[in-house]
Amino acid sequence: MSGGFPPIREELRGLEPYGAPQLDVPVRLNTNENPYGPSEACVADIAASVAGAARELHRYPDREHVALRTALAEYLSRDTPHGVGVDQVWAANGSNEVMLQLLQAFGGPGRSALSFAPTYSMYPEYARDTSTAWVQGRREDDFSLDLDAATALVREHRPSVVLLPSPNNPTGTALPPEAVTVLCEAAASYEPQGLVVVDEAYGEFRRAGVPSALELLPAHRNLVVTRTMSKAFAGAGLRLGYLAADPAVCDAIRVVRLPYHLSSLTQAAALAALRHAPELLGRVDDLRAERDRTVDWLRDRGLRVADSDANFVLFGTFADRHGVWQGLVDAGVLVREVGPPGWLRVSIGTAEDMAAFKQALVGVMGRAGERVEREEVEA
Ligand SMILES: *Cc1c(COP(=O)(O)O)cnc(C)c1O
Repeated sequence: MSGGFPPIREELRGLEPYGAPQLDVPVRLNTNENPYGPSEACVADIAASVAGAARELHRYPDREHVALRTALAEYLSRDTPHGVGVDQVWAANGSNEVMLQLLQAFGGPGRSALSFAPTYSMYPEYARDTSTAWVQGRREDDFSLDLDAATALVREHRPSVVLLPSPNNPTGTALPPEAVTVLCEAAASYEPQGLVVVDEAYGEFRRAGVPSALELLPAHRNLVVTRTMSKAFAGAGLRLGYLAADPAVCDAIRVVRLPYHLSSLTQAAALAALRHAPELLGRVDDLRAERDRTVDWLRDRGLRVADSDANFVLFGTFADRHGVWQGLVDAGVLVREVGPPGWLRVSIGTAEDMAAFKQALVGVMGRAGERVEREEVEA
């Protein structure tokens, strides 16, 4: 970039684009995808819907994506006794675009966004891209939130947006409703008040008895709940994320969204996929059971494992986690090198995927004295 070319913004100079390695190995357990693809009936329905939309491709799509928002509102209404109205729903190309739109509308110069590490590594990038200051608190050693410290931090920095993934990535930790409540109250205690965004990308995987933050929407005007079709819904390739919030939040996003941000093909495919919700979500119970078995198995090996309400498990700790990661890749299993030093994250795949993962890990850990050494497990 000598000679000032390209003339990129100063704060972006020399930065690498974000992205998990897309390595071609037999067992890919690194991006929390759903390992089960759609049925042929679902594929046929999507194809027919997209063909219908293709006949109208000379026209711009429905800017308000009303049919899709109506279907999403219906879907979300299962998770809250209060129901969710179509005017409370907004969708975009993945919940990552929803998050960026939130920061475009509510962040910006002179404002800040706050989250608690370790957490999703994209958040600080959206803050940077929207010139929003980034404030990072910390989670406890068990990855829970100390609510007194968290509310004190919110009151001190008065962020415009508080980002709270629940279940959290990469730790898998879900937040209790009390945490959402006190943080919404803290963010409402200053002017202009802050939004609390609960990112429920993994919401459908939460353990029995863990409620969705959707239930709290009527109580807190400043609460936003985001969801995605990428994980439980087995639609990572679809690029469809959405939120539920006060209708005024959706109206603010309308100001910053691109004029026709959701293509008619995406809208048609997502609507068709939603008609197959029972099938696409049908494997969630299997994946949760496989997750719980994976947690037990890793603990039986003497490893530390974070409790998980998601479709992945954070485990460790390894003195040479890169060595363990590489050893697994060499054995044909790709996991994610992410989280605090020493930890690795494995996405939950099919029973066969998990058998391959376990076999590979036993092999890597068995080669003691080489590069790989397990750290003393803390008492
Ligand atoms: C995977 C994930 C998402 C989903 O992103 P999409 O853009 O909807 O695919 C959102 N938030 C977190 C924390 C995630 O891990």
